Amino acid sequence: MIVKPRIRGFICTTAHPHGCAAHVNQQIDYVAANSDVAKGAFGNVLVLGCSGGYGLASRIVAGFGCGAKTLGVSFEKSPTESKTASAGWYNNKAFEARAEQQGLYAKTLDGDAFSDAMRDQVMDTIKADLGQIDLVVYSLASPVRQHPKTDELHRSAIKPLGEVLEIKTVHVEKGEVSNVALEPATEQEIADTVTVMGGEDWEYWIDALLANDLLAPNAKTVAYTYIGSELTWPIYWEGTLGKAKADLDRASGEIQRKLQAIEGDARVAVLKAIVSQASAAIPVVPLYAALLFQVMKEQGSHEECIEHIDRLFTSQLQIGATMRLDDAGRIRVDDLELAEVVQTEVKRRWPLVDTDNLPELGDLAGFREDFLKIFGFGIQGVDYDAEVDPQRID
Ligand code: NAD
Repeated sequence: MIVKPRIRGFICTTAHPHGCAAHVNQQIDYVAANSDVAKGAFGNVLVLGCSGGYGLASRIVAGFGCGAKTLGVSFEKSPTESKTASAGWYNNKAFEARAEQQGLYAKTLDGDAFSDAMRDQVMDTIKADLGQIDLVVYSLASPVRQHPKTDELHRSAIKPLGEVLEIKTVHVEKGEVSNVALEPATEQEIADTVTVMGGEDWEYWIDALLANDLLAPNAKTVAYTYIGSELTWPIYWEGTLGKAKADLDRASGEIQRKLQAIEGDARVAVLKAIVSQASAAIPVVPLYAALLFQVMKEQGSHEECIEHIDRLFTSQLQIGATMRLDDAGRIRVDDLELAEVVQTEVKRRWPLVDTDNLPELGDLAGFREDFLKIFGFGIQGVDYDAEVDPQRID
């Protein structure tokens, strides 16, 4: 079949097998050529949410930067003869193929990471293949979670708190800037979002690893968060997602306490805004990101997802690194996004931006390109008019 992007709102329902593979390979090549992370910094790494965005980048830096054996967990859709897989499925295959070429252990388990069945499968795999884990990266982003203790299905809501929020946004496909009125969350929606995107599941994972004695002495775990600037606070940090992320901070403290026994370390790392399947779904964020990318590109401080995670590993996570921590003990690598020189300019443009001047003031084109790349489209060197087998990446 010939695979073209089919965009529905903020998701693309097709993915290009060769494009996804090329995108993964580009990121691996970047790390192989540029990373300063120490070989052997981490021996065995478990990545929860390994198939896209920040989790995939973390797995790439761990595997191809540190030379780590990686076990990944993700929830992706396999292809059929007539339908493409989800992008993450191709990404996992491409990562595994490259690892195999280099004699690097890489195993991916596909299924629901919130379930006890998946936790058991991961524990068994570590016992059989790896012994103990040195680093656990928690990078799940999901709109739903079936709670493993109650079987109840919780859905997250991306909403402000308290009152209706009138705020600027952009329709990514049409490029139209407008004001939207976002209804505030109910108490139930807040609670559900915390259940889905908060820290409980991260705690369950660390509890299981500790109970099975599968964390190595001095093991680390890191979970990712976003804080962003005042412009997005009303919908993110001060909204339902912020409540969930505050719960991640709570969990970090609990896990830190539990890891004392093995002299381990648990941290939340605050990352920069990028285009991912998860972030494209958040109202306001695409407009903020378009302005931010333009300003950071003009000022020469823009980082792609892989560059950002490489900096996290190299400057913050590896042994000997002096972590840049805030008052809450979080690692801050969002320093470039939040630099005053960047934010002052983004905030200057925010009230001015409209549909006509967006191409000048913001980088919506770059946002769209990044969005398509997530699904394997717009990657240089890929022949998008060629027939492909959706069940193969080569
Ligand atoms: P993403 O959508 O690119 O990746 C999410 C991953 O989670 C995928 O591998 C997916 O398969 C996996 N996943 C989802 N539900 C699952 C389930 N039930 N079982 C197993 N795997 C499941 O997301 P992302 O943007 O890379 O986000 C990862 C983390 O980084 C999140 O905590 C997010 O808040 C944080 N973060 C994102 C941004 C951003 O701008 N995208 C910025 C800062 C922090």
